[in-house]
Amino acid sequence: METLIESGEQAIKLGAELIRAGEIVAFPTETVYGLGGNALDSSCVAKIYEAKGRPADNPLIVHIAKIEDIYPLVSEFSERNKKVVEKFMPGPITLLFPKSEIVPNSVTAGLKTVGIRMPKCEIARKFIESCGTPIAAPSANASTRVSPTTAKHVYEDMKGRIPLIIDGGDSEVGIESTVLDLTRGIPTILRPGAITAEMLAEVIGSVRTHKGEVISSAPAPGMKYKHYAPTVPMVVAKDMNSLIVEYDKQYKNGLKPLALIRGQVVSSMGDRQYVNLGFTDSEVCRNIYSAMRNSEKVCDYIICIDLGENGLCKSVMNRVLKASGGKMV
Ligand code: AMP
Ligand code: MG
Repeated sequence: METLIESGEQAIKLGAELIRAGEIVAFPTETVYGLGGNALDSSCVAKIYEAKGRPADNPLIVHIAKIEDIYPLVSEFSERNKKVVEKFMPGPITLLFPKSEIVPNSVTAGLKTVGIRMPKCEIARKFIESCGTPIAAPSANASTRVSPTTAKHVYEDMKGRIPLIIDGGDSEVGIESTVLDLTRGIPTILRPGAITAEMLAEVIGSVRTHKGEVISSAPAPGMKYKHYAPTVPMVVAKDMNSLIVEYDKQYKNGLKPLALIRGQVVSSMGDRQYVNLGFTDSEVCRNIYSAMRNSEKVCDYIICIDLGENGLCKSVMNRVLKASGGKMV
């Protein structure tokens, strides 16, 4: 199968036609690129799992274009949940509700809950609206690979497996959505993201946070899988001193290391290879996945600086620690 990369209105129109014909299409969102298919048709859903090589017990997120599109998909909608929806949608958050009958079990991996997201990205919303159906979509990477934040990343993983990638440029946020379970007494974050616990607590009162370690009995299916792993080993350095020591040690071992660091410290790298992740937290978040993808092609050992625990960086570190298997130096 030939995989086209198209942009603009034409791409949205072609994408929607393909979806209506039962195909799957990659599309941009503000978090990462998604691999979408008709969420109400289990044969389309099966194509998504197949193209990604995704385990069947890892549920997909259902994407919508308008708030009203939530109602047919859920069996319960409380006043509290209405408040969360109105405050955070559209945006980089996935909300879990009790699912209605029309959502196929394959979308939710057999769970009684459905994850729903309304992207802020206009291309995504226009695309979903043109499809005329909710769109089930996980990230558009091959299973266990780093999530894609450009059309080119998607092409690397999906070439020959899907007919179309809608190109919307770089994803603005750069990491996957926050997943918030609204079916529990205290809403619970199953996956941290750009909408932080602090932001949610302000609206809901109290939120249970997810600590981010890879744990096998995690309530969010999918969190137990090794995610976002570059193809070369990666470690996290607790400070710049440890980073330099580790770099030089690996270099002496004959490896070609590369450091992922903040813009403020590039001068301390000397002749060593590095990628500047940016100066602000949102730049670091936007660049982290591209940096991992690009680095694995030019080095054989990645050392990422500990980015700290503040707000957005806590969510970025959740991904970095998964990619490194939690290895610290
Ligand atoms: P991806 O879009 O590739 O990041 O995958 C979607 C992720 O959303 C899954 O791996 C889960 O962590 C989460 N998710 C989606 N639906 C549910 C659900 N019904 N219950 C728990 N987690 C979900
Ligand atoms: Mg994913």
